[in-house]
Amino acid sequence: AAPRVSVLGLGAMGSAIARTFVERGYRTTVWNRNAAKSAPLVDAGASAAATAAEAAEAGPLVVVCLLDGAAVDAVLGSVEGSVAGRVLVNLTSGSPAQARAYAEWAAERGAGYIDGKIMGDPPYVGTPNVMFSFSGSRGAFEAHESALKELGTIAYHGTDAGAAAVEFMAQVAVGYELLIGFLHTLRLVHAEGVDVQEFTGRVAASMAGYPPLLASMGKAVKTGEYGPDLGSLNVQAALMDDMIAHRESLGVEAVRMREVKKLMDRRIADGHGGQGFSSLFELLPPRG
Ligand code: NDP
Repeated sequence: AAPRVSVLGLGAMGSAIARTFVERGYRTTVWNRNAAKSAPLVDAGASAAATAAEAAEAGPLVVVCLLDGAAVDAVLGSVEGSVAGRVLVNLTSGSPAQARAYAEWAAERGAGYIDGKIMGDPPYVGTPNVMFSFSGSRGAFEAHESALKELGTIAYHGTDAGAAAVEFMAQVAVGYELLIGFLHTLRLVHAEGVDVQEFTGRVAASMAGYPPLLASMGKAVKTGEYGPDLGSLNVQAALMDDMIAHRESLGVEAVRMREVKKLMDRRIADGHGGQGFSSLFELLPPRG
C-alpha cells in the first residue's frame, strides 16, 4: 500500500508540501484551521480531516507547517492525545530552543520528533532548489527519510533537535549580513551615477571567486592558521582608509567599513599585520 502522511497547516508552504506528497503517490491527509484551504488539495487527491487530532491519527508521519511557535503550540495542544507512536516533523520556522522544547514535549507523549527548517519558495517544493535542514531523532529520520526526500534537497544535522534551527538561523544570517552590505554599496554606486543594475550583473559574475575564498576562510578560522587572505592586513588597512573616505565624500554609510578598519588596526597593533582578513575572527566576541 502507498505510504501515509498527514500535513497540518495549509498555508503557502504547507499546501506546497501536501501537494508534493499527493503528486508522489502518498496517501495524504490534510488539516487546516481555516478548512477552506483543504479544498484544492482534496481535488488533487488528499483526504481532509475534520480536526487536527483526526489528521494526526491518520498515519505514522505527521508534518506540521504553521505560521510560528504560537500556532504550533495551539495545534500541538489539540493533538496531544493523538501523537503516541507517531513521528512529528515540524517544519515551522523558529528558534533552536523552541525545537528542543517540542522534542521534549513529543518524547513525553511517546512520539518521535524531527525538527525541520526550510530555505526556498513554495512553488519549488519537490525540486532540488528547496533546502531542508533536519535534526532530532535519528531513528525517526531514517524511518521517514524517503518521504522527506520527496520535498527537496535534505540534510540531517544530528540528534540535537535544535541543530536544524541553528543551521537555518546561521544560513539566513549570512544572507542578511551580506545583502545589507550589498545594498549600502549600491547606494555608493548609485551616488556615483553608475547603473546599479548593470553593476549587480558584474558583481554576480565576480561571485564565482567566493566559494574557494569561503572554504579557505572556514579552514583558517577552524585551525587558527591565518594566511594573508585578501592580502595582508597591513595592506588592506591602507585601502580601508580610502574606502571610508570615498563613502563619506558621497554621504554614504560607512559604519561597517569603520568597524573593519578598527579591527584591522587592533590586529596590526597586536603584531598580526602579516595575516589576512580571516584573522579578524580572533577579535569578534564572544570567543568561539
Ligand atoms: P502562511 O501565512 O501562508 O500560512 C500560515 C499557516 O499557519 C496557515 O495554515 C494558518 O492557518 C496557520 N496558523 C496560523 N496561526 C495559527 C493558529 N493559531 N492555529 C492554527 N493554525 C494557525 O505561511 P507559510 O505557509 O508561508 O509559512 C509556514 C511556515 O513555513 C512559516 O514558519 C514560514 O517561516 C516557513 N517558511 C515559509 C516560506 C515561504 O516562502 N512561504 C519559506 C521558508 C519557510 P489559517 O489558514 O487558518 O490562517
